[in-house]
Amino acid sequence: MDFTLDEEQREIRDWVRTFVRRELLPLEPEVLRRERANQPGLTRDELKQLQDKAKAAGFFGVLTPQEYGGMGLGALMAALLEAELGRTFVPFRFGGYADNILYHANEEQKQRYLLPTISGERTSCFAITEPGAGSDAKAIRTSARKEGAEWVINGEKTFITQGNEADFAMVFAVTDKDRGADGGVTCFLVDREMGWRSEPIPTMGQWGPAALVFDEVRVPEQNVLGEVGHGFTLAMQWIGQGRYLLPARALGSCERLVEMAIEQARNRVTFGKPIAEYQAIQWMLADSAVEIEALRWLVLHAAWLVDQGADSRHAQSMAKLYGGVKANEIVDRVLQIHGGMGYTRELPIERWYRELRLLRIYEGTDEIQRRTIARNLIKGHAKVTGSLG
Ligand SMILES: Cc1cc2nc3c(=O)[nH]c(=O)nc-3n(C[C@H](O)[C@H](O)[C@H](O)COP(=O)(O)OP(=O)(O)OC[C@H]3O[C@@H](n4cnc5c(N)ncnc54)[C@H](O)[C@@H]3O)c2cc1C
Repeated sequence: MDFTLDEEQREIRDWVRTFVRRELLPLEPEVLRRERANQPGLTRDELKQLQDKAKAAGFFGVLTPQEYGGMGLGALMAALLEAELGRTFVPFRFGGYADNILYHANEEQKQRYLLPTISGERTSCFAITEPGAGSDAKAIRTSARKEGAEWVINGEKTFITQGNEADFAMVFAVTDKDRGADGGVTCFLVDREMGWRSEPIPTMGQWGPAALVFDEVRVPEQNVLGEVGHGFTLAMQWIGQGRYLLPARALGSCERLVEMAIEQARNRVTFGKPIAEYQAIQWMLADSAVEIEALRWLVLHAAWLVDQGADSRHAQSMAKLYGGVKANEIVDRVLQIHGGMGYTRELPIERWYRELRLLRIYEGTDEIQRRTIARNLIKGHAKVTGSLG
C-alpha cells in the first residue's frame, strides 16, 4: 500500500497549486468586493481568460478523454486538483469539461451538444429535481408524450444549477407512467430555443439556481439522450460524479480555513497571551486537522475505486456525507476562532460558511447518504471492515 503521489501526479498537483497561488488568490479581494455588491465574482470573459491561461499550460478538460482534447486524468487526479481549487473561493473551474452523461450521445448529438460544451461554446444544465421530487427523484412528474416524430414535454424543474445561463438542458421526464423510474424515465437534450423558460431562485449562496418551466415544449425524437426509458440510470451516473468531487473541493476549502485559523490563533492576544495557548482553541484546531485528514482519505479512496472501475457508490456516499458534515463543523470552528471578525463581511469566512452549507443538501442530502450507507450494510452489499475485507 503506497500513499505517496508519483512524480507525474505531484508535478500536475503542484502546477495547479502554483496557478491558484499566482492567478487566483490575488483576485480574492475583488471577487469578494463584487459579490458584496451582488455582482458575479468573475465575469464570463475573466473566467475565459483564466481558463485560456490554464489551457496554454495543458490544463483543459481534466476528466475529458484525450480523444476529445482533454487530459483524461481520471478520478483520483481530478479529486486532487479539485481540492487545490477549493483552497480559494474565486469561482474558477478548468475549461474543457462536459457532463459525464453527454458521452452517451450519438455521433450527431456529440457534434451539437458534447463537443460545443467541451469547447465552451455551449452551456448545459442537469434538470431532474422538481417542486415535488428532490430526494425522492423517482417521484418526478414532468412528462413527455410522443406525437409523430416529436416528444412534447410538460412540467416544472427546480433548483437547477446554471439553469439561468444554460443554452440547453438535460431534462428527465416520464415517458411511461406505469414503469416510472424502472424503464419509464427518459433524458432529453432540450435547447432553450425549443421553448423552456427559466426563473432565478435567490439562495443564501453566491450564485442562484433556476426554476425551469416546460409548457408544451416540442423536442425532436433525435434529441433523446441514450435510450428511451433509460433516463434514470443516466441521472444516477451524473449524480455519482459529484459525490467525490464536491467533498474534494470542500477538503481544499477546509485546509485553507484551518490555516487561517492557525494564523489567527498565533496572532490574536487576549488576557496577555496568544489565543493559540488556550486549550479550547487548540482542541478546535486539532479536531479539524484530524477530520481533514480523514476526509482526504475518504475522498481519495472513493476516487481510486472509480478509477479501478469498481463499485464506488458506498465509498462515495461516505465521502459526500463526511465531507458535508465535517466541512460545516470546521468552518464553524474557524469562524469561532476569529471571534467577531469571523462574522463580518470583511473576511471571507462567512462566505465559505454559506457556501459549504449547500454540500449537506444537494446531490443527495446527508440523510439520503446515510440511508444509502445503512442499506448497503444491512443488505450485505458493504462491510464495516471496508474494502480491505
Ligand atoms: C443550490 C442548489 C443547486 C441545485 N442544483 C441542482 C441541479 O443542478 N439539478 C437538479 O436536478 N437538482 C439540483 N438541486 C436539487 C437538490 O439536489 C435537492 O434540493 C436535494 O436532492 C434535496 O431535495 P429537496 O430539496 O426536495 O428536499 P426533500 O427531498 O424534500 O428533503 C427534505 C428533508 O427531508 C429529508 N429526507 C427526505 N427523504 C428522506 C428519507 N427517506 N429519510 C430521511 N430523511 C429524508 C432530506 O434529507 C431533507 O432533510 C440543487 C439544490 C440546491 C439547493
